[in-house]
This record gives sequence, structure tokens and C-alpha cells, in this order.
Amino acid sequence: MPDEPPARTQPTARPATRAVHAGRPPHETDQPLNVPITMASTYVAGGEFEYGRYANPTWTAFEEALGSLEGGRCLAFASGLAAVATVLDLVGQGQTVVAPRHAYTGSVMQLGDLEARGRLSARLVDVTDTDTVVAACADAALVWLESPTNPALEVADIEVIARAAREAGAYVVVDNTFATPLLQRPLELGADVVVHSATKYIAGHSDLLMGAVITADDELYGVLKGRRDLTGAVPGAFEAWLALRGLRTLPLRVERAQANAQELVGRLRGAPHVAEVRYPGFGAIVGLVLDSGLAADLFQHKTLLWVYATSLGGVESTLERRRRWKSEPATIPEGLVRLSVGIEDVEDLWADLQQALASLDQ
Ligand SMILES: *Cc1c(COP(=O)(O)O)cnc(C)c1O
Repeated sequence: MPDEPPARTQPTARPATRAVHAGRPPHETDQPLNVPITMASTYVAGGEFEYGRYANPTWTAFEEALGSLEGGRCLAFASGLAAVATVLDLVGQGQTVVAPRHAYTGSVMQLGDLEARGRLSARLVDVTDTDTVVAACADAALVWLESPTNPALEVADIEVIARAAREAGAYVVVDNTFATPLLQRPLELGADVVVHSATKYIAGHSDLLMGAVITADDELYGVLKGRRDLTGAVPGAFEAWLALRGLRTLPLRVERAQANAQELVGRLRGAPHVAEVRYPGFGAIVGLVLDSGLAADLFQHKTLLWVYATSLGGVESTLERRRRWKSEPATIPEGLVRLSVGIEDVEDLWADLQQALASLDQ
């Protein structure tokens, strides 16, 4: 793997340009414009690759592109939760991890499982309460942030918390799945590690599972790469190729989905049956709190265009009442429907939401 990225992926190019150009073969006669899908379990010995669990040129291209956007070196994983597990393994036996109580349920469940088996101690906090989070960092080994949180849409003051955590000698990790590197770059705000569920916005088409870890610290990169080599939590070459293809249009998709979300938020405030609209001001996830759990249950079956489905970050708009999951904490409102706003025409999205809200009167 080259240490120096090719000239056209230098950080002087703006993010939308790097999303298109990073991780491509060199501009030389007969080179393909796109990296091929390399299907290989092993490589002729003596080079950098050796075996399919250690490296794959299709992953490398994806890693160069996402690493370039986040400002660090990237490692691709089989899923977001494979990346989460690998990063949580940085913590020593019995040490403390501080994490948002409303982080992604899978991340909170991993912490609960590790705690139940005596592996570590988890301290769940309200990430919007910066003073409490800072105080909780004092004896922590790792501070896990997710901002905005899924699905409460709470925003953490990453810069202030990261400074306190680093002073305490703790690793600072930010799950940047909701914001994407186009709206927030946690490494620039003081984080040691960024985690993504690339399944969501990065890949963007609801057709694969992948995760990623990015760090600007070479030593930490080596440790995490070593963990990935040992656990084998690696993506398939086709998934990496599709995720890279998705990443090429990330800036356009985020721009459009965010504009749609902002328009819908304005229209939904004050609409019938809407008790509250949660929106952090950026991104394309909206928390629509209806007046009851029953209304939310009915609503998710009444849309025709919006798809009733879990997950988020695809080109198509999806929605889901989060409390349908038994794992969702009781602090998430019964009536909260998470909207993942896609890139369709906003008027069609609005008309469908309006008819679904109106149908609740019948
Ligand atoms: C979906 C998600 C994950 C888990 O990623 P998978 O790819 O489903 O394993 C982690 N964090 C956040 C914020 C997510 O939305």
C-alpha cells in the first residue's frame, strides 16, 4: 500500500473532487478508469498482499477514497458492527468505556454483552450534557461518541469532549455514520478513530453491508489492521467495489437528501398528528414523533412511496417506528418514526407523508 496518495487525491482537492477521483488506477495508457473487482484468496508470495484476509486491491481503492475524505488511513470491514467490535477491543480487560445511552442499538448491545462477560465496564451518558460527559471521561479508557445519535438525533460537542478524553488518556472514537465526512470530520475535531457503517450513506443504495475504521495515527492503524488480520472481519471484493461506486456520488446524494429533509422538516412542523419533529439542522435523518405509539404503528403501513424498512442512508426514502424493536430503550418516544429521507422529488415525498397522516383520522 503506498504511503503517499497519488497527487490527485492530495488534500488540496476539495471533498467533492476527492470523492470522485481518490482510489483510481493511475492515468496511464490502457489502465481502466475504475479499479477491477479482484477475486483472490491468495497472491503470488513475497509482496505486500500475500493472502486474501490481509489485503485486496479493491478494498485498497475504497480505503484510499474514504480515508481521503475523513483525513486518515482507512480499513474496510465486513459490516459496521464488525468495525465497532474491532475498535472496542482496544480496551484493556476491566477498563471503562463511556458511550451515549442512545447510540446505535447494536453498539450499545455489544457494550452490554462485553460488560455482562466481565470484559469491560460501560458507562452510558446523555451526550448532549457535555459537563457530565467530560466528568465521566476522567477514568475512562475509551470514549465512544455518535453524533447525531441513532435515532434520538442528539448532537455531542465532539471537540470539547475529545479534548477532555485525550487529557484523561482515553481513546476518542466517533461513529460518523449519520453525518458522513462531508458534513463532519471528527479527526479534525480531535478524535483518534472514526467508525462508519458504510452500509448506510457511504454505499448509499441499500444493497450491501460494510464497515470502516479511519485513523490518522499510524501506530493505531497498525494495531487495528492487526486485529482485522486476526479476526477476518473483512468485506468481499464485490461489496468493496459497490461501496466505492456508491461513494463517488456521496456529495450529490447528501446534498439532495439534506435539502429534501430540510424542506420536509419545515412542512411537518405543525402537521396533524405530529407532536414533535427532531432534526439536528444537518443530514437527512428526521425523527418524526407522532401523538401515540399506535398512530406511529399505523403510519408506517400507510405510506405508498416511503418504504417501511429498517436501515437508512439509501437513495430511496424509508421509515420505521423505532420502538417496534424490543431492544430500543424506553427513553425513545413510543411515537417516534425515523425518516431516512432519500433523493426523490420532495413534492412526491411530501404528498405521500400528507396522505399517510390524513389516513390516521379515519
Ligand atoms: C447501522 C449502524 C451501525 C451498524 O452497521 P452495520 O453495517 O449494520 O453492521 C453502526 N452505527 C450506526 C450509527 C448505524 O446506523
